[in-house]
Order: sequence, then structure tokens, then C-alpha cells
Amino acid sequence: MAENLRFRNPELAHNIALKIKSLAQNAGKIKICHVCGTHEWTITHYGLRSLLPENVEVIAGPGCPVCIVPAAEIDEAVQLAQMGNVVTCFGDVLRVPGSKMSLLEAKAEGADVRIVYATSDAVEMAKHEPNKQFVFFAVGFETTAPSTAVEALGNPPKNLSFLVSHRLIPPAMELLLGLGDLQIDGFIAPGHVSAIIGLKPYELFPRIYRMPTVVAGFEPIDVLMSIYMIAKQHVEGRPILENEYPRVVKPDGNPRALEMMNKAFTVTGGNWRGIGRLPDSSLQLRESLAEYDARLKFNVHVEQGKDILLGCECHLVIIGKIKPNQCPMFLKACTPEKPVGACMVSSEGTCRVWAKNVAVQD
Ligand code: SF4
Repeated sequence: MAENLRFRNPELAHNIALKIKSLAQNAGKIKICHVCGTHEWTITHYGLRSLLPENVEVIAGPGCPVCIVPAAEIDEAVQLAQMGNVVTCFGDVLRVPGSKMSLLEAKAEGADVRIVYATSDAVEMAKHEPNKQFVFFAVGFETTAPSTAVEALGNPPKNLSFLVSHRLIPPAMELLLGLGDLQIDGFIAPGHVSAIIGLKPYELFPRIYRMPTVVAGFEPIDVLMSIYMIAKQHVEGRPILENEYPRVVKPDGNPRALEMMNKAFTVTGGNWRGIGRLPDSSLQLRESLAEYDARLKFNVHVEQGKDILLGCECHLVIIGKIKPNQCPMFLKACTPEKPVGACMVSSEGTCRVWAKNVAVQD
């Protein structure tokens, strides 16, 4: 119970859990979906599922920006590296499997692949080595897209280009509602994405789909509160959009970041690993920035990628249809040290979160 957990305020957590229990006692099954790797970490690390009544379930949707990068886009990065370019990326991306190899394996074969901690690091590297061509592999949701936009718009050196693989969260949430057998009763919307995009992009969920939707922060109390708020909406039959995280998320989000994203990118359809093609879910550089588009600059071409390796169930984990421990490879053939699927690679991947917190989860 809450007393045994590492909460700052176990009494408050316990009280919220009691309120959820009392609300849900005659409500039938309530299935709540979040779409954020950090929410999954909070829920798993603090054992929040163990505080919920049996009829309230929280599942993890496609909330890991690294896990959903399709193999074909890893293949593009590998191809760019094998052409002799220096490919820069965040550390989590390095081990994500492509159709034939990961960037780490390309590096082991001699390609120049370097980890950066910020997009600006790639800019600085390109400035310091003007005789080499640099590519920044831009992966992430709305949280990281603004920093790619800022650098792309900031007159970067001509020997730097961007392989853009940014994806947008609301279209993925909409997709989940089309999967009839998932039968979601409410969404916990991600706090950090919402700090950029604000509340408006979620308005359709209660209005069109009658889906309770609550933007939540990342403390265990935030997540428990959001579960309570969703359960209350569900029980009262009053789906609305609520903001549990007003200390960070403003209704209009971050207008400056949105303006930079809008200047740098157009929205287009894109493939998601394990999900397939989603309309209006992907960003690409605008024509005015075409000279910085690595795909155009180096005429990158890959065949259709192979997203899911034989036996891996990432396609089901990513959409919350199964839990990581329902994959036969979980902590057997697939471990954080030797990941098989993308969900075990990133610190935000559901399988990795469960693997790292297995004692809590049990
Ligand atoms: S445990 Fe490994 S193989 Fe199984 S779904 Fe997760 S990442 Fe894929």
C-alpha cells in the first residue's frame, strides 16, 4: 500500500486511492490510457496500479517517442552514416533496431555516429568540423520538435542537415479510439507535450468521442489525481477536458515554441512503428528549409522497413493491448542489456520501464 511506497505524501496518495475506490465501486470496468513514457515510469516505479481497485485499469499507449520511430527511418539514418556523414542523435536512439542494423551496429562497423545531449550540440560540431557533413537525427514528440525548429531556422552551418522523424501525439490518441477492442474510458494526456501544444488539440476527445481527458503532471500524486478526475467524469457521464497540471501547462501552451514549429515544419502523414501510417501525425521541414533536409540533400532511399522482429510483441505493447510481461521474450531473450524490440531500448519504452522496476511491478 501507499505507506510502503516512496511517496512524499503517502497519506494524500492513500486518500486519493480511497476516493477512486469509492467512486468506482459500482462503475464496472474503467480503462484509462496514458500516452507518455514518463507517466508509465511514475505509475510503475511508485506501484500506483497496486493502489487501484481491480476494476480500474491504466494501460500504456504509444508514449515513447523512440519506440515508435519506424525501422525505415532508422534505416535512413544508417544509410546516411554509411555514406560517410556524421550522424548525431540522442543516446536512446542509438540501439533502436532498424531492418538490418541499429545505428550502434553501424558505428561498430566504422560509421561516425555520435551522441548529442541537445540539438545545438550538433550545430556546434558541424561548425568545428566544416570539412565533414553532419546530420542530426531529430526524433521526438512535440516536446523536442521546437528545439529542432529553432536550430533549423537559426541559419545553421551548410554542412549540417536534419533527418526529421518528429511525431505528434493527438493523432495517435485518436487512433487508439478507433481500435474498438481496446475500449478506453479516458485519457491521461502528457504534461510535457501539453506544455507546448496547450489544451486545444485535446478538445475533440470529450466533444466528439465523449472521452474524459485530463492533462497530468508527473508526480505520483498528479497521476493519481488524474485517475480520480477521469473516474469521476466517467461515473458522472460528464466527459470534459481538465488540466490537472496548471502549474506548467497553460491553455495556449507555449505560443513561441508553436510559432517556431509552424515556421519550420509542415504536418504530413507518417509511419509509426507497430501502428502503421497515421494521417497528420508527422513533421517535415518546409520547402524554404529544403537545403537542410537530409533526405533531399543526400537522396536517401530505403525500401520498406521491417518494424517488428519475429517473436517481438512491441506492436501490441505500443498500443496497450498487452502488458510487457505478456510477451514471451520479456526478461528472457529480451532484456535492457540485450534488447530485442524498440520498447526495451529507450528509458521511456514500456518494456524497459517494467524491466527496470520489476520488483515494484510484481
Ligand atoms: S519484451 Fe522485448 S521483444 Fe517483447 S515486446 Fe517488449 S521489446 Fe518487444
